[in-house]
Amino acid sequence: MKIHSVIEGTRVNGPGFRFGVWVQGCLRNCPGCFNAEVCRMDGGRDVPVSELVRLALRQQYDGISVSGGEPFYQDDELSRLLDECRRHGLNTLVYTGYTYEELSAAGKHALRYCDYLIDGEYRREIPSRCRWAGSGNQRFLRLQDGKLAADLTALQDHSTDGEIIIGTDGTITLTGFVEI
Ligand code: SF4
Repeated sequence: MKIHSVIEGTRVNGPGFRFGVWVQGCLRNCPGCFNAEVCRMDGGRDVPVSELVRLALRQQYDGISVSGGEPFYQDDELSRLLDECRRHGLNTLVYTGYTYEELSAAGKHALRYCDYLIDGEYRREIPSRCRWAGSGNQRFLRLQDGKLAADLTALQDHSTDGEIIIGTDGTITLTGFVEI
């Protein structure tokens, strides 16, 4: 799977304590995109899905969050990653620049392995309605077997959180909503 990075422990990209995977590549060009580097189609590194699953099981995570970049560009790899993680008891959440309806119409297989979806392009002029979404047009959806089960957007509190993660190698990662 072509990824940009992983985060071994985050609490600001979905409910609970989560393993995070940031995939590489997105063509949407949303104004104000949080990370132009992650959008480059020629960047990133290939990591086997099995290795990502191994990392996801190294700690007691509640779930896995996949963001990017656009995860659904890699529908097969995303399906395998989410399916494996669910088999090991993790819940699954995916951030996408497409709407659920667009992905469903396109027949994206990975939808059936998503427990939660945060959908829609990032529009910085619309304030977020959900603590884990970047902008207010995005929804926090519960899926079951690929079908839309509930829109939970309004049930979340509206406060936003961010994290600054300092790696053992000195790298600094900002995630969520961090003002510096
Ligand atoms: S969909 Fe997300 S990653 Fe892609 S350009 Fe928009 S904000 Fe950036």
